Amino acid sequence: MAEAAIMELKDALAATFPEIFPGQDPTVKKTMPRLQAAPGDHSTNPNYNASTDPHVAGLALDIILLAWVESERKLAENLVDLFVYSKAAMGWNAVIYNHATIDDFGGPKPHSGPDPHTSHIHIQWPKSRAGTTGFIGGMQNDLTDLHDRWANHRPLPND
Ligand SMILES: [Zn+2]
Repeated sequence: MAEAAIMELKDALAATFPEIFPGQDPTVKKTMPRLQAAPGDHSTNPNYNASTDPHVAGLALDIILLAWVESERKLAENLVDLFVYSKAAMGWNAVIYNHATIDDFGGPKPHSGPDPHTSHIHIQWPKSRAGTTGFIGGMQNDLTDLHDRWANHRPLPND
């Protein structure tokens, strides 16, 4: 079970973007939602270590938005901007998307891990801040505005 901060963000994204969250993951054939807190299938990765996977610990959310699809990448970039703007209230300590990472020390900076995160935003919290809640209230107007612009094919705030 994911921690409270992860569930608050997941539930808000599902409610605000009903057309896309929780839709089906377009990268796989099997049924898999676009909002994934649970650990993914790492069976083909020999370097996978469940003990260090923040998803196993309930500390992370993956938001499936494909960087090679322009409309999805623009939505993802705007969500990342909103997460950065709201970082103090949200309490996350890492956001990774499309070859870039932002953490407690700043960013964006090049993401050097084996997965370039071109298929999803990864956002994670440290255990000490994973119980953070109540942050969506301050973000909801911006989330709703982003949804309305995106759904109506209008320019997004950071276009
Ligand atoms: Zn992840």
